[in-house]
Amino acid sequence: MKKYTKLNHEELMSVHAQVSKEYERMKALNVNLNMARGKPDFEQIHLSLGVLDTVDSHYPFGDKINYCNYGILDGIDEAKQFFANILETSPDQVIVYGNSSLTIMFDQISRGYTHGYLGNKPWCQLDKIKFLCPVPGYDRHFAITEHFGFEMINIPMDENGPDMDLVEEYVNNDESVKGIWCVPQYSNPTGVTYSDEVVQRFAHLKPAAKDFRIFWDNAYVLHHLHTSPRAHVMDILKACKDAGNPNLVFEFCSTSKVTLPGAGVAALATSLENKADILKHMSIQCIGHDKINQLRHIEFFKRPNSLNKHMEKQARLLRPKFDTVSIVLSHELSRLNIATWTKPLGGYFVSFNAMEGCAKEIVKRCQEAGVTLTSAGATYPYGKDPHDSNIRLAPSYLPLDDLQLATEIFTICVKLVSLEKLMEQKA
Ligand code: PMP
Repeated sequence: MKKYTKLNHEELMSVHAQVSKEYERMKALNVNLNMARGKPDFEQIHLSLGVLDTVDSHYPFGDKINYCNYGILDGIDEAKQFFANILETSPDQVIVYGNSSLTIMFDQISRGYTHGYLGNKPWCQLDKIKFLCPVPGYDRHFAITEHFGFEMINIPMDENGPDMDLVEEYVNNDESVKGIWCVPQYSNPTGVTYSDEVVQRFAHLKPAAKDFRIFWDNAYVLHHLHTSPRAHVMDILKACKDAGNPNLVFEFCSTSKVTLPGAGVAALATSLENKADILKHMSIQCIGHDKINQLRHIEFFKRPNSLNKHMEKQARLLRPKFDTVSIVLSHELSRLNIATWTKPLGGYFVSFNAMEGCAKEIVKRCQEAGVTLTSAGATYPYGKDPHDSNIRLAPSYLPLDDLQLATEIFTICVKLVSLEKLMEQKA
């Protein structure tokens, strides 16, 4: 098959007629398949059900009986150590919370808004608050900052992370810029991992606003698809401390996609000064998080190397799914010159770029054929992709056969909409 971009109008019409027939055939299958969210599948959940068996009424609590009571605001020592190991930081910099890191992020933004960080003016008293948003990015981050009415500014990303020239220009000169959302490893949705140089440039920022913070969401720190090659992000907390900017970062992490999403454990790591400030507010908000669930996770992963082995099992389940998507996309689209997509080394997503102006229509056609995708535009602030090009694919949830079919239907929709766009351009 020739590149679609090289076809003349008649050829485009004829290929379009063929692809339309395939599309109608797929529609007649009446499928109902969902590739919208990065949810672990049934087998992945099964790997972690043992978490529920580790601490029960027969557990020899000993001193740990006080974990069943109120108190211990920043989390049990074992859990602080667990997250410190994951984030390569020290346990005294960690607070262990409840089940969701997104809730911690919301809380942190909320504290900046109502009370301010470290004695700075609360953001609600300022006329304008801006947040930098590397794009494409995670829709729920953007939803939080939109919820608070902050202006969101798109920052383009390349294979090393956000455009740091632009980040420096905004952060170092504009006092209304108070934060940036970052997913430093296996970014959602691009799979990009920030280079050491990018981390260092973050650490050496000279923010115009004293209360500017980097929201470093390390959600995929453990989520390698392969034993090698693997990404590794430099420790931002240490880099900031060494650069004389110890309070610059809030780092987030959770076991949502390690054990049980919704019933995992989440944590924040930051400087001691930030931590004390957070705990002061948190002591008003709660008396202590679910320490028994923290303990369950510690018991579940107590054997040496068990966390790594567990993540390798997760990867063994996820790899064939990413391979399936990659194979179908390559087989169906690679020669046509109408799209590009990522082949990530970890995380939960494939980021697909269609021809400009096509993403919304592709997602709509998929929906009409029974395949639900993340809405087009969701990977950008305000749901507005300026190029209407990016689509996030989430391969994890569907069983392999369904995933193959859903991806095939997706490629048919991509072809159909691209052909229509080209016909429009050549008319
Ligand atoms: N951050 C990112 C980048 C994510 O992709 C997700 C889950 N999709 C979350 C946070 C949510 O994490 P949690 O379950 O800990 O709230």
